[in-house]
Amino acid sequence: MTNRISRILIIGAGQAGAWAAHTLRQNGFEGELALVSNEDQVFYERPPLSKQVLAGEMDAAATQLFPSEVIEAMNIEWHKPDTAVAIDRVRREVRLASGKVLGYDKLMLTTGSRARVPVRAWSEIDGVHTVRTLADAKRLGETLLPGRRLAIIGGGWIGLEVAATARKQGLDVTVFELGERLCARSVVPDVSDFLHQLHSDQGVDVRLSCGAIDLAGTEQGAVQLSLDGIAAGRFDAVVVGAGAEIASELGREAGLDTTSGLVVDACGKTSDPDIYAAGDVAIHPELGYCIQSWANAQNQAISAALSLLGQETPYADVPWLWSDQYHCNIQILGAPGNGEGTEIRRDCGDGKVSFIRLGADNRLESMIAVNDAKLIKLGKRWIKARMQLPAEILADPAQNLMQLKP
Ligand SMILES: Cc1cc2nc3c(=O)[nH]c(=O)nc-3n(C[C@H](O)[C@H](O)[C@H](O)COP(=O)(O)OP(=O)(O)OC[C@H]3O[C@@H](n4cnc5c(N)ncnc54)[C@H](O)[C@@H]3O)c2cc1C
Repeated sequence: MTNRISRILIIGAGQAGAWAAHTLRQNGFEGELALVSNEDQVFYERPPLSKQVLAGEMDAAATQLFPSEVIEAMNIEWHKPDTAVAIDRVRREVRLASGKVLGYDKLMLTTGSRARVPVRAWSEIDGVHTVRTLADAKRLGETLLPGRRLAIIGGGWIGLEVAATARKQGLDVTVFELGERLCARSVVPDVSDFLHQLHSDQGVDVRLSCGAIDLAGTEQGAVQLSLDGIAAGRFDAVVVGAGAEIASELGREAGLDTTSGLVVDACGKTSDPDIYAAGDVAIHPELGYCIQSWANAQNQAISAALSLLGQETPYADVPWLWSDQYHCNIQILGAPGNGEGTEIRRDCGDGKVSFIRLGADNRLESMIAVNDAKLIKLGKRWIKARMQLPAEILADPAQNLMQLKP
């Protein structure tokens, strides 16, 4: 099968694009491999951007996914910075903003997502930031000076990570969240409360149900923030952490089946058998929505690249992601269920606490573990083994959970 494909084109060179290219080369694809990226800096990891890079503890080179000689050896035909603007599926060609037209035998869409800014005009205001790219993190990092006032719009994972990093740098931080609790889309109320307490303890002013937010630049370079039309403070910088927009437009406009993201089968194939997709832009084949996480981008891309080469490799990983805030490493395993079942809090002291959710059949549905990576590892095995779990043992911190090893 590999021999019949002579040219593969990948659009997007983030986590998923990088792992797709690497997997293709590692698995014997010797034909032309072309990549289009609208960022000049490619093949880097985004998780450190809101953490170590923003704090000035990690430089750009350390975020690179593979050593330079490994990237060199991939023998890639680069088109960057350039943007793919249209796919002609009949001619099997992709048109770029530069006017170039690139052919393909197989196409892989790894266009990811981008930071959502709810009001377009906000992007024009000096002092308003998003954190999606290395350039964003560098620009924001330069403004994080002790004593400055930082507003964060949105109490989701990225907003909270930026809040933690900025507090550590000695800024005065306020989080404005429209909803009634933090990270409401991904965690149960108990976890929202935990996050709220964590940030309040560190001196962050968390304003829930804050009302309609508006921003305006001032002559002094600060940003004026108002809530429901009433002035609510001036800030030296504002970070908009209002979620991400899935960059599915290229595939959608080419007529590929699209819901919240590009629809793919378990092997990453879209509704066009010559086009694959992976990472933030593609739905999770079992869950039916996009999972925006580092592990998903990597593993879905590996599975799609192998499948594209004819080695059908279904992808069904349980969602897993992490967040680092202050002294807490927070890991999230599984997907929120339908609300039935049992919620368990396991508090082991010393900052180690977990929020476990069993489905109606007592099987693990999701788990959020703070400073307990071992429990997450065990949880992955429980899910894989479809193990039924005793709630009373999970809730008792005196019980060693290794007794429940599958
Ligand atoms: C600040 C930050 C912190 C994060 N922290 C964590 C974490 O702690 N844990 C975790 O699990 N996940 C984290 N994530 C999420 C994780 O990084 C993403 O899920 C992952 O990067 C997705 O990879 P991707 O390759 O699918 O998409 P992306 O990384 O978005 O890459 C897509 C690339 O394609 C480019 N592109 C898009 N359209 C076009 C086009 N038409 N033409 C050319 N190029 C195009 C984009 O500009 C981009 O360079 C974080 C994300 C961010 C932004």
